[in-house]
Amino acid sequence: MTPRQSTSPGSTTPDPSGKRAGEPSDPAEPRQPRRASLAPGLYLVATPIGNLGDITLRALDILRDADLIACEDTRITRRLLSHYGVDTPTTAYHDHNAPAALPRLIKRLQKGEIVALVSDAGTPLISDPGYRLVQAAIAEGIPVTTAPGPVAAIAALTLAGLPTDSFLFAGFLPPKQAARRQRLEALAAVPAALIFYESPRRVPATLAEMADCWGERPAALVREITKIYEEVRRGSLGELAAAFAEEGPPRGEVVLVVGPPAPQASLDDGQIDALLAQTLASMSLRDAVDHVVAASGRPRRDVYRRALALAADEPSE
Ligand code: SAM
Repeated sequence: MTPRQSTSPGSTTPDPSGKRAGEPSDPAEPRQPRRASLAPGLYLVATPIGNLGDITLRALDILRDADLIACEDTRITRRLLSHYGVDTPTTAYHDHNAPAALPRLIKRLQKGEIVALVSDAGTPLISDPGYRLVQAAIAEGIPVTTAPGPVAAIAALTLAGLPTDSFLFAGFLPPKQAARRQRLEALAAVPAALIFYESPRRVPATLAEMADCWGERPAALVREITKIYEEVRRGSLGELAAAFAEEGPPRGEVVLVVGPPAPQASLDDGQIDALLAQTLASMSLRDAVDHVVAASGRPRRDVYRRALALAADEPSE
């Protein structure tokens, strides 16, 4: 394979065949001649997260012109490629075969080939394989570029109706409960919207854990983005936890977005205790805690502990 010459990595020229990007070709036709100006290197190519129309023209050009497409699952990517009439050879690249597949890909890149990396959906490397391949390519001085596109996390954030000025993508929570709790506690004070990927079957428990750890923060469960049953459920963590405890797990793929913590400076410990004492005089312990959590944005655990201490100090009649 001869390395291609280019002044700027990743540049393309119009298709000499005159075929528009995205236009399916006859599978019986031989592969289209490739553009001469696509520079060699590793291309990180984003693919749709549901609606097949969500792919850029440049992504299709790169997929068509690459020497090889490294896919998380070749069968899944083949469906996308055949929809767009792309017949570029594919190879598997995922966490399990990386020790053998990574050096093979690096060797081909070193020969000056064009390798496109895709995942099953969305942007490679975002809760998907690719990080080690990018690291290895950088270490070898191989050009790495991107054809950006859909990411479920960003799509969910924009649909959530929560502040978007500062956000933290937290990926998947650890599956084991102690580690999950630790992670939730570590994120409690982050002054930003938090974005999580989550398995639908864990949604009711995760929302309950979040409400318990973080109090009544606003949140959104965003489901099946760009697909037929796209849906956004908005409410406080407690409201969403109660709703899914009753309904059971949602169907399809989900992203959880949680609003930033309420500013805490307005209520110090003394003020929390005063508010608790006031509400405990007229409400049950549980209702008083609910009220103070909503008013202060403090984690339910903290407020509950303070309420118990206050109730224990109260002289019995
Ligand atoms: N690389 C992908 C991206 O760019 O978003 C993420 C891959 S990660 C293995 C899969 C998770 O992304 C799912 O469990 C779900 O949390 C989220 N996700 C992917 N597609 C989605 C969609 N259409 N609607 C909602 N969530 C989605």
